[in-house]
Amino acid sequence: MLLLTPGPVQTRAETRAAMAVDIAPWDPEFGREYAAIRERVRDIAGGVAGVHATLPLQGAGHFMVEAAIRTFVPPAGRILVVSNGAYGERMTRLAREAGREPVVLPVPDTRGVRAEEVAAALAADPAISHVGMVYSETGSGVVNDPAVVGAAVRAAGRRLIVDAVSAFGALPFDLKAQPECDVVLFTSNKCLEGLPGIAFAVCPMERTRERAGLAGSWSFDLGDVLRHAERSGWGSFRFTPPVQALHAFGVAMEAYLAEGGQPARLARYAENMRVLREGAERLGLRPYLDAAEQGPIILTLHQPEEPAFTLAGFVEALKRRGVLISNFYTTPKPTIRIGCIGAVTPADMRFALGAMAGALDELGVTRRAA
Ligand SMILES: *Cc1c(COP(=O)(O)O)cnc(C)c1O
Repeated sequence: MLLLTPGPVQTRAETRAAMAVDIAPWDPEFGREYAAIRERVRDIAGGVAGVHATLPLQGAGHFMVEAAIRTFVPPAGRILVVSNGAYGERMTRLAREAGREPVVLPVPDTRGVRAEEVAAALAADPAISHVGMVYSETGSGVVNDPAVVGAAVRAAGRRLIVDAVSAFGALPFDLKAQPECDVVLFTSNKCLEGLPGIAFAVCPMERTRERAGLAGSWSFDLGDVLRHAERSGWGSFRFTPPVQALHAFGVAMEAYLAEGGQPARLARYAENMRVLREGAERLGLRPYLDAAEQGPIILTLHQPEEPAFTLAGFVEALKRRGVLISNFYTTPKPTIRIGCIGAVTPADMRFALGAMAGALDELGVTRRAA
């Protein structure tokens, strides 16, 4: 089966195979492996040894978004959330339910946020301490630029939280060039092409140390994660980790570096996107985003406006042809979402286009040119 979902993604056979072992989390051999993974992840984020630290949490990306908010936004404090899709909305909900006060900056889900929009919102409300943003909005596929937002945040003397879950490893990020950034966060199972089970934050250590004990949650306190590492070692965990997923993630990281790291991964995904987008247009399917706003992570297409088309029917017909795509959409208009990330190539995209043509024919959708 070819998985073209925006996470969890298709993985390499050797990454999956690495799961099939028993490991004791406190075994020093695993501790060394885990500590090395933390250093590699920090380096990919543009972090600096002794200044920035990788602070993992067991579980999904949402847990880390909540941990980032709880750790860095003061209790009852205000966070401006750039909202141009489902994940911005989720950050708003996580902030509200954590007892922080989200201030929403609404942006159309068809374009990235502009620096002046962030600057104006911050100027209007001095009580906002943080800006939360999603790097790649996995709802529509639109990209917000953390360097652009970060410059506005820095100029206003505020702090930045970046949800880079569907971007990290493929789109560039340089923490040492963004001193306003408290945290960039992501998971094992998207552009780094590991299995699900672990979320990562990379944070400035001094800032994080100061925040220990203020999260209102022991589980989600990144200051405590750092304190534990500094006391018990970078190879240790507070609670039982998904050891197999971490071990497999180490294998995925080897493949990442062997491929050529971030530039090579971005180049492969961008080519996947080009092939898929052009092919979809030839099939008569209309992209949701203009080409200039199209990110390389996920292609969102308008659903054909014909009664013969249903998303559930299309997904099932594709699955019978060996291709699995997302079975839901989060845009205001009905759409189809197809991921370009994971251990997949342009050849896989051509295969998927063949399957899409077959599925449309099976449903009886007339394929007029877009
Ligand atoms: C996938 C994703 C997440 C996290 O999803 P989980 O299911 O919690 O791992 C968060 N933000 C973005 C932008 C994502 O694409």
